[in-house]
Amino acid sequence: MSKGLPTRSENYSEWYNELVKKADLAENSAVRGCMIIKPYGYSIWEKMQRALDDMFKETGHQNAYFPLFIPKSFLSKEASHVEGFAKECAVITHYRLKNDPDGNGVIVDPEAKLEEELIVRPTSETVIWSSFKNWVQSYRNLPLLINQWANVVRWEMRTRIFLRTSEFLWQEGHTAHATKKEAEEETAQMLEIYAKFAEEWMALPVVKGRKTANERFAGADDTLCIEAMMQDGKALQAGTSHFLGQNFAKAFDVKFQDKSGALEYVWGTSWGVSTRLMGALIMAHSDDLGLVLPPKLAPIQIVIVPIFKGDEQLEKIAEKVAPIVKSLKAKGVSVKFDDDDQARPGWKFAEYELKGVPLRVAIGMRDLENNTVEIARRDTLTKETVELDGIEAYLIETLDKIQENIYKKALDFRTENTKEVNSWDEFLVKIEEGGFLMAHWDGTSETEDKIKDLTKATIRCIPLDSEMEEGKCVLTGNPSKQRVVFARSY
Ligand code: AMP
Repeated sequence: MSKGLPTRSENYSEWYNELVKKADLAENSAVRGCMIIKPYGYSIWEKMQRALDDMFKETGHQNAYFPLFIPKSFLSKEASHVEGFAKECAVITHYRLKNDPDGNGVIVDPEAKLEEELIVRPTSETVIWSSFKNWVQSYRNLPLLINQWANVVRWEMRTRIFLRTSEFLWQEGHTAHATKKEAEEETAQMLEIYAKFAEEWMALPVVKGRKTANERFAGADDTLCIEAMMQDGKALQAGTSHFLGQNFAKAFDVKFQDKSGALEYVWGTSWGVSTRLMGALIMAHSDDLGLVLPPKLAPIQIVIVPIFKGDEQLEKIAEKVAPIVKSLKAKGVSVKFDDDDQARPGWKFAEYELKGVPLRVAIGMRDLENNTVEIARRDTLTKETVELDGIEAYLIETLDKIQENIYKKALDFRTENTKEVNSWDEFLVKIEEGGFLMAHWDGTSETEDKIKDLTKATIRCIPLDSEMEEGKCVLTGNPSKQRVVFARSY
């Protein structure tokens, strides 16, 4: 227990909610399902954005911005798209308020009714494709590789901070290509980028896979995804990349002249990750003392806490620490020297543990005499006394080790909690234990629905990297060629 945080085994869900609050990441807002992201939480999101944005740009994408409001008629143009999103749209019908003549404050002015209602974007395919129509004439305009950082609104009924909110922040990539092959390659490339980001930055192992028809994005021909395992064994869909075929090109009449002069519809993709990744980061690594952040995304990577009595001692320590801080900063390490004399070291230690700072360096008068410091690792909670000479290199090396160790720990956890199951009885037992179940499925939506009704488990994905293997569907006994990932999910 730290600062009244429930433990994960006591109540995982409460642990998560309390941790988000106590670590000062975010809080609930007056509007149900919306969140206020606080500076500490937002600085983690900014680090995520920066890393992803660099990867998008390295692969030729450019950022642009499209409006928040979508004319209702736009959304209706692609039939399955509107059907998928209709249930969770915020709709704007009026543009003015007025004083209530009966004295009840302000009311909606019935005379200020919009001629055409506006939808607050749940995703931007429709606005973007209506622009693409003007941007694309010939093969020379292709490919169009656009990304937007924005907020979107989906009126979710069951919300949970970061993981599923009514308004969330995300990036949405939207691309148009001359050929089907190119669009498919783009879809696969972006999934690879998401997987790389999850594994190398978030230290989060993911399964790359394909969604079944049931779980496909509304308007896509194919949806690829990355799925991660949280510490309670539940799955979390952490990112999606959609092959849109020519669906939006046809709905918005986006054609190009190919080299032979013939008019063809373009091929599209869209892909997104959201502030849900913040939830994934917290749920995958943190412990009962607080956050555990991978160094690459930690707003403060190293905190140096002086142990002192009085200004004179603090000055001596500060003098010793100054060149170390300077040299670490020059090497791109984010380091904080916490010389606040109002808080006791013990309080600071607990606070930085709660905040997930990967490395804590404590330095007192005895350390000055011995030319040493005490280093504490947040991931392993181990402490060691280290010589001051060469300390910068040692700290940087240790940050790398922490990054690796956090990944390995999450990977080991996933491996331990991934089980092959071969019969329905086994499925029923194992699904209660949590984790991923690798089982054969007959490929029908009907069976998938039935399994969901019976167990609340869904097919998270059909893994891209797994081997083909003849088998029998775990429910119906019908033939199957590959195991799929079943799990209960967020
Ligand atoms: P989609 O457009 O449905 O493929 O979703 C794109 C990304 O946004 C996925 O990575 C989802 O995990 C994420 N996402 C979808 N709905 C929400 C939500 N209500 N809150 C947070 N993230 C979401």
